[in-house]
Amino acid sequence: MKQDIFKVGLTGGIGCGKTTIAGLFAEKDVPVIDADQISRQLVEPGQPALAAIVHHFGADLLENGRLNRSKLRGQIFTRPDEKEWLENLLHPLIYQEMQRQAELLSTPYCLWVVPLLLETGHRDFVDRLLVVDCPIELQRRRIQSRDGLDEAGIDLVLAAQISRQHRLAAADDILENVGPLSELQAHVEELHKFYSDIGMRGDHLRIIGQPSPDERIASKL
Ligand code: ATP
Repeated sequence: MKQDIFKVGLTGGIGCGKTTIAGLFAEKDVPVIDADQISRQLVEPGQPALAAIVHHFGADLLENGRLNRSKLRGQIFTRPDEKEWLENLLHPLIYQEMQRQAELLSTPYCLWVVPLLLETGHRDFVDRLLVVDCPIELQRRRIQSRDGLDEAGIDLVLAAQISRQHRLAAADDILENVGPLSELQAHVEELHKFYSDIGMRGDHLRIIGQPSPDERIASKL
């Protein structure tokens, strides 16, 4: 039986540096499986999830056959029941696809980039959790210069995510993204060695219970 690949989850607050860090792992030929990217692919024209969304919310969401994502966000923004409906549709599909892609790999480990891994209660889907962290003020500055949001807009986005304290408490590893890119590269290099070793040794595998009788006999031969 093929053993499950070692999965390292990468999560962190908005603008903390997940994409930047995932890019540095990818440069080391680590397979990166990105939940956001998959969720976008799932609503491409012709995908069953898009048909379900249009059936539920109406064809107004389409523009030239493609989903207008900001219109969809508008539909769920102040309606928790509709947000829940959409999440119930997409989350299982996203994780199924992530798992499918992981099963095709034969590297020592892979990286699962999931911004809302903790918010959606999926910590157990990865073997180890890497949290990228930075002080709130720096996070705000990065969001502001990248997205052009004002203070109120940033507050809204931050309020939708779990607190920094809760995220840090759930971490196995914390990457403080406060320095220049060269420093980040050095940290990624260190983590890459660490994860490769674990994956190659198979230390991430949790074997619970007794081996089957056949295996017990085989181990005595
Ligand atoms: P989101 O949650 O919105 O997807 P993210 O966590 O993926 O964000 P990035 O997009 O990687 O964060 O980084 C946010 C911004 O901060 C980007 O403009 C990025 O270039 C910049 N940034 C990230 N890390 C650093 C760093 N160490 N030095 C300078 N700029 C950085």
